[in-house]
This record gives sequence, C-alpha cells and structure tokens, in this order.
Amino acid sequence: MPSLIAHYQQLLGLPETWKVSDVRLSMSGPRIEIHLEYIGPKVECPECGKAGRIYDLAPEQRWRHLDTMEYETHLIARVPRCECKEHRIKTIKVPWATRYSRYTLKFEALAVELLQECSSIQSASRLLRLNWHATNEIMNRAVKRGLSRRNKEAIAHLGLDEKSFRAGHQYVTILNDLKGGRVLEVVQSRTTDGAEALLLSFEASQRQGVKSISMDMWKPFAIAAKKHLPQADIVHDRFHISKYLNEAVDTVRRQESRQLHHAGDRTLIGSKFTWLRNPENMTESQRTSFDQLMACELKTGKAWSMKNMFREFWRLGCRESASFFFDYWSERVDQLALKPMIKVKELLKRHLDNILNYFEHEMTNAVSEGLNSKIQLYKASARGFHSFHSYRIRILFYCGKLNMAITG
Ligand SMILES: [Zn+2]
Repeated sequence: MPSLIAHYQQLLGLPETWKVSDVRLSMSGPRIEIHLEYIGPKVECPECGKAGRIYDLAPEQRWRHLDTMEYETHLIARVPRCECKEHRIKTIKVPWATRYSRYTLKFEALAVELLQECSSIQSASRLLRLNWHATNEIMNRAVKRGLSRRNKEAIAHLGLDEKSFRAGHQYVTILNDLKGGRVLEVVQSRTTDGAEALLLSFEASQRQGVKSISMDMWKPFAIAAKKHLPQADIVHDRFHISKYLNEAVDTVRRQESRQLHHAGDRTLIGSKFTWLRNPENMTESQRTSFDQLMACELKTGKAWSMKNMFREFWRLGCRESASFFFDYWSERVDQLALKPMIKVKELLKRHLDNILNYFEHEMTNAVSEGLNSKIQLYKASARGFHSFHSYRIRILFYCGKLNMAITG
C-alpha cells in the first residue's frame, strides 16, 4: 500500500505541503478516492499572501479529477483555515483547483478543450459525464478567465446586433468586433441603456479608436453610439438592410398568398424560402420552380425583383453612384405600388446617409452573418431560469475568441 500512495503522490505532483494520506477504491461508484492531507508548518492567507497560523480544518471537500483507467477519480481533503491578523479566518488556496470549483484544474482544462473541440455541448458533456449545470459552471469560469485576459487594443470596426431571444419579444444585443470576427459582449435588452452598457464594457482608450459602428436602423442604438462614440460613423450595412428587404418580400407574399388561396389558387403555398434564396445559391430544381413562379407575374415576384435589384447598390463602390442608384431604385419601387416595399424604401431613405457610410468603411457581411448563424446554434442549449446568463456564456465561449486555457 505505501508504494501505491507514493505512486499517486508522484502522479499528482503536489507541493511539499500536501501529501497523499490514503487511496481507496470505492465500489459504489465505482471510483477512486485520493485523500490528501496538509502537512506544512504554516499557511498563507488567501487574501494577502502573508503567513499565518492554522486555525482549524474546513469540512471535507471533494474535487473531481481526471479518470484513472476508466474510474472516476476524486481528490478529498480537509483544507486548513488560516488565521490572518488583517483578514481573520480564511480557507487557504489549494494548488489543484480554483476557488469554489468542484473540479481540479486538470479536469477543467480537459473539459474546456473537449467543449471547444466537440460538435455539440451535449456530446462533450456526455464524454465528460457531466450534467448540464456542471458543464455550465465550467464554461462560466472559462469565460470569466478569458474576459479578464483580453487585451486593451483599439477596435476599429464594431457591429451591434440584436437577436430575438425566447418567445414574448425578449431580445439580446450583441457587440461584435468586425475585424477580429469575435463577440465582445452581450446584454439582455435592445434599449439605449443596453447599448450604452455594451459600449461601456470596454476601456475609454479603446472606444476612442473606433472608426465605425454598424447597426440596425434602430434609434436606441444610434443614441448610444452618438453619446459614447462621437467620432465613429454609424453604418447601416448590408447585413441589416437585407433583413428588411426580405421581410417586406415575405409580407407581400403572405398577403398575396391569402388572396390567391381565397380564389382557390395554391401557387404561393410553401414558397416562403424560395423568395429568400439568391439565384446563384439555388439548386437546379429550386431554380426551375423559381422560374415557374416568376413566370406567373405575381406581386411577390415583382417585390422580389426589387429586393434583388438592391443588391447592386452595394457593388457600386462609392457614395455618389450609390446615391444615384438609390433614386432610380426608389422610383421603380413607387411604380410597383406595393405597400410593404414602399415602407422599406421610406425607411432606407430616412437613413440613407448612414447607409452610404458603408462605402467609407471596409466591411464585409461575412463576419456578421457568420457570427449570427453560430450564435443561433446555442440558443437551444441555453435554458433554465437563468437562460440569458447561460446564453451569454455560450456565445462568449464559442464566439468570443477568448484565451480560456488553464495555467498553473
Ligand atoms: Zn491576510
């Protein structure tokens, strides 16, 4: 038996102040339980690091460690409490785990790595044999670690995105670093206060370097940006504008489909997604059915043509040509006299200046679109009473480009 203890002592690589006092194989789990004992003469206060006297031992605690063979392995110890003149009685830090964690650093490091590598949180949790809450706790600590390590370099191009979250018109707003392709922070609202909180979530010196912020045509966002980023251009980019155009086409489709349906015509039934696709992304059969729909000379088809035509706007490369194009496009929209399209045109007209800012800032849609679809994936696994909290943690864990590695 002593050799077994020595063996584990060596494997754990503990400092001299800790020793393995016992190793037990519990068949109830089955699991291996490694008992540790503090043998140092003195202890350090966790607050100030000064040496103090051992006051007593805290109740027994347990940490899950990496498996031994396939046996779940736990470290068990009564951690000394230090008596510090200044901070009174405090439980000392242990070398194998962070405070309040029920897992060792080595286990958490493995968990973070697996969570990053696996295709889903569920499969990583299954491999680690962790329940939802335990996984959440580990991700939470990893994100905290990562956020505290972020550098304070200037960020030139920001993106502000809102996203619906749960039924009942709840929203989250996400601040992105467009050049870095990462999420900076998330709040649970889409109000001015929420947007301000996001913009204040990083240093004043970083804010001064912001050249542009792209966002939806949503007043609270503009108010917050003008207040905290007075030097930055507000840009209503392609990503946000396409959303409105798509919605308008869909409104026309729904109205027309209803009218046709009353007359016994089912042409538009089930065509919602057909109108959302761009021709170059259609398969051959999708293209055929699309062409057939277009041949029917429906209002929806006309609305779609206007949406499709607007794609040209972004290719024009400069304010002047784009502005000229916009006038031409607006006239065509007016001629069609489709209310939902006219409504969008009016909206774009009111914000045209900021839309034209697009041409002054090098920006691609890919980042916003990529982050947006990635973020969508984590909505379902964020649940429970604190669902916003777990949603935020997932977004930052997977889209924050954080350094969450465990050191030490
Ligand atoms: Zn102290």
